[in-house]
Amino acid sequence: MNPFASPDNLDKELRSLLCEASINLCDWFAESGNQGPIPDSFELPNVAPEKEGVTNNILLRDLQLLMEGAYRPSHPGALAHLDPPPLSASIIGDLICAGLNNNLLAEELSPSLSSLERKLSEWFSNKLGLGPLSSGVAVSGGTLSNLMALVMARNLAGLGSDPSAVFFASEDAHVSLLKAVEVMGLKKDSFQKIPTDEKGKLSIYELSLILKKIKSEGKKCFAVVATAGTTVRGAIDPINEVAKFCNKENIWLHVDGAIGGVFGLSPNTSELLEGLSCANSITVNPQKILGITKTSSLLLVANKDDLSSVFSTGLPYAEPISGNHFHGGELGIQGTRSAESLKLWIGLRQLGEKGIEKLLLNSISRRSYLESLIDNSKFKIISGSLHLLAITPLNYSSSESFEWSIKTRKSLLTNNFMLSRPIYKDRYYLKAVLGNPNTKFEDLKLLADLINQSIL
Ligand SMILES: *Cc1c(COP(=O)(O)O)cnc(C)c1O
Repeated sequence: MNPFASPDNLDKELRSLLCEASINLCDWFAESGNQGPIPDSFELPNVAPEKEGVTNNILLRDLQLLMEGAYRPSHPGALAHLDPPPLSASIIGDLICAGLNNNLLAEELSPSLSSLERKLSEWFSNKLGLGPLSSGVAVSGGTLSNLMALVMARNLAGLGSDPSAVFFASEDAHVSLLKAVEVMGLKKDSFQKIPTDEKGKLSIYELSLILKKIKSEGKKCFAVVATAGTTVRGAIDPINEVAKFCNKENIWLHVDGAIGGVFGLSPNTSELLEGLSCANSITVNPQKILGITKTSSLLLVANKDDLSSVFSTGLPYAEPISGNHFHGGELGIQGTRSAESLKLWIGLRQLGEKGIEKLLLNSISRRSYLESLIDNSKFKIISGSLHLLAITPLNYSSSESFEWSIKTRKSLLTNNFMLSRPIYKDRYYLKAVLGNPNTKFEDLKLLADLINQSIL
């Protein structure tokens, strides 16, 4: 048995392995509806390699065990997080990507795929209105996209070695910004949290007050991060006003659109993100709603030279490339990278503009439908204009909300609904993300009944 595909003739063993694994995967999908979103228990196959390599049959059997213990994003009740079921084209994109095993580090290791990534990033950044000089780079997750944006903003502001330099984001911004503070060697108070209003949006008034204070302390600022889709309630900061503010103060605007950015792809939802086109950089995570297999994130920039001017080191061991391009490995923090844009490209092609729009609009309708069914004489609902909402009983103390959230999440799970349990401003909530295209209105009716009955 040769564990590498023959380069000389059709490798029948590989072909039957791929066929059987594909059949097993299809069966796994087919039975997902009869299972819950998460298994009650699972068995792990042997982890360490044996002395001799095992047969394909054993590999397939072991894979089956892992599959049975996996989270099932295609279950209609899988509503806890921003992890939708995968598009079928994206699955084969990942398979082919693994087979090609190209490396986005250097052009010579991924000739067609490096070019695809550039073109796709340009398409995306143009769609979001970033203009003729815009482009971007595929990055393994939104955390890294945000980090790269902040590193770029800080360096280009000439503050690369100033640990007291400051950036601003709302108090509801994503935890990845806290990691960025650590990685960038910034002081703890370099991340100035701006209070949000009652809708969970960054307050411009508070932002201007805090900037004044920071300046009066003699500190320098390098970025404002506006969030397009906060993690708990899907709120969108007033990007347009933040953009005007940044323009006036000459500060970099980064939009963390890990959740909401893709809503800019459709003319029917892009108005939710007014001002997005004024950003210097944008994080988008197609893995979070469009069903592109993980990981799929892009860092888009209004001026593509900004990426190379900060991250380019030269790649002395790779052939130089023609044109005014840079190797993929010079456009960000990562070196070796798989061709993540392959599954994004093929997934978007499968959906088409209409399919993308339908996914986005249907997610929003499911959120509004569920919202309309929750008894607001019993519950406080926090949501925005996207596809997320979170619910907590009215007038509960922090500890009462904790008890309720534990008990209710558990009883919902016995009915095969999986919601998450975020803590937000001292209260526990149950959060639903309505991006799962398999969830029907009748499922939501049942879910709402169960939630409404969770308190008397
Ligand atoms: C998920 C998320 C991120 C981080 O993205 P990962 O791909 O999980 O690293 C950043 N910002 C927001 C608003 C998010 O929801």
